[in-house]
Amino acid sequence: MMEDGQGQCEEEVLGSSLTMEKVAAAKQFIENHYKTQMKSIQERKQRRWILERKLASSDVPKEEQMHLMKDLEQKETEYMRLKRHKICVDDFELLTIIGRGAYGEVRLCREKKSGNIYAMKKLKKSEMLIRGQVEHVRAERNLLAEVASHCIVKLYYSFQDAEYLYLVMEYLPGGDMMTLLMREDTLSESVAKFYIAQSVLAIESIHKHNYIHRDIKPDNLLLDKNGHTKLSDFGLCKPLDCRTLSTLKENEAMYDENIKDPMDIDSNFPDTNDGNKWKSPREKLHHWQINRRKLAFSTVGTPDYIAPEVLLKKGYGMECDWWSLGAIMYEMLIGYPPFYADDPITTCRKIVHWRNHLRFPEDTKLPHEAKDLICRLLCDVEHRLGTGGSDQIKAHPWFKDIVWDRLYEMEAAFKPEVNGELDTQNFMKYDEMDNPASARSSSGHSRKILQGTHHQGRQLIPYSVILRTILQQLEK
Ligand code: ADP
Ligand code: MG
Repeated sequence: MMEDGQGQCEEEVLGSSLTMEKVAAAKQFIENHYKTQMKSIQERKQRRWILERKLASSDVPKEEQMHLMKDLEQKETEYMRLKRHKICVDDFELLTIIGRGAYGEVRLCREKKSGNIYAMKKLKKSEMLIRGQVEHVRAERNLLAEVASHCIVKLYYSFQDAEYLYLVMEYLPGGDMMTLLMREDTLSESVAKFYIAQSVLAIESIHKHNYIHRDIKPDNLLLDKNGHTKLSDFGLCKPLDCRTLSTLKENEAMYDENIKDPMDIDSNFPDTNDGNKWKSPREKLHHWQINRRKLAFSTVGTPDYIAPEVLLKKGYGMECDWWSLGAIMYEMLIGYPPFYADDPITTCRKIVHWRNHLRFPEDTKLPHEAKDLICRLLCDVEHRLGTGGSDQIKAHPWFKDIVWDRLYEMEAAFKPEVNGELDTQNFMKYDEMDNPASARSSSGHSRKILQGTHHQGRQLIPYSVILRTILQQLEK
């Protein structure tokens, strides 16, 4: 009884302190609201006053002056009206789903008022709260809004309702680089060079704004209707904080155990020793293609492109994005990424011990310059090209015939087929109410992807838990 009474009492105290907090928050809100309101009325008065004074000291005829003052008033009223209209999901007609990720989906949509077509990324708040991703989404929105660059997907609106956050972006109908790579096996050297060069410019432009992407991978390189690349998905993007700048200690001991533990959760990947798992590069390529799409759907995506210092929680800087680019370049020319393994944790381990695992298959003949650039990107921070700025990469001999200033004006190395603004043929087909694994390959280009997406035997969750743990530790 006593205990009950006490418990109840505590509850009441807690309850009332909660009420007090709510009251204080509401009071604060109202105060702020009126403060802003008053401020904008004052600012409006001031604008009127400035114009009046300017006109008074000018020789503009009285009638014209009246006209100009009226014009200003009209503009002010229109502005207030626009400000009052809060944009929401009902302002859009929702069309085909073109992407589905861990936190939500991406859809083609049409703004009802203007008829404009956009891509809408919808993220479930509760999912993000559970996973501590709110900051990431805020970073994504900030970056998209702040960085105006032709190499970055443009953000038009962002808003939220009780359940979701929405990002309304330009629609890039050419599909993503992952889909292109799955269709083509490998790219010719000139096509790969074009796309790697455009990616250099895209990464450079976010670095200029002090953002690190951390998740550069083919799925996040989108193609516009002309085949030019734009960078997207800034979910993991981190505004650079000087304290996190890398001060790498020389080869700190790193035991596989560090990443082995979480792996034990996962009994779904029995064979983690892939030493000589695949008899030939061909076989490895085939296996990669089967698994690729599935990896893309998991919570944190594939680890194949993550830099070792990021996995090692050593603290890292912008140069981690250049490592990722090296991994993509390898994949474009060889067919699978450099540290691919049967399960993601083995991949992480191979990345961390990259010195022992970075190999080029004997039967592929890469030009010396290409190989050299890959090795200068997939290496430790001190020796990595790009650590001293993107010009180091641009000056590499592999790019000698690239005209950097004109790259986005040139005809692209690959022109996607796009028929009309609503065409989604370059994306996979998704069922409306469904889980990620049931995504089907695009009908236009049936290929090995089909085998991949039907291969549902393995659970995605354990893997994503592991990587999330790694990433969360990084956040600390
Ligand atoms: P996630 O965080 O789930 O990876 P993304 O922003 O990368 O979300 O979007 C998932 C997929 O949706 C992309 O790989 C791409 O295929 C498609 N997509 C995303 N944004 C756009 C866009 N603006 N235009 C066209 N397709 C897009
Ligand atoms: Mg993505």
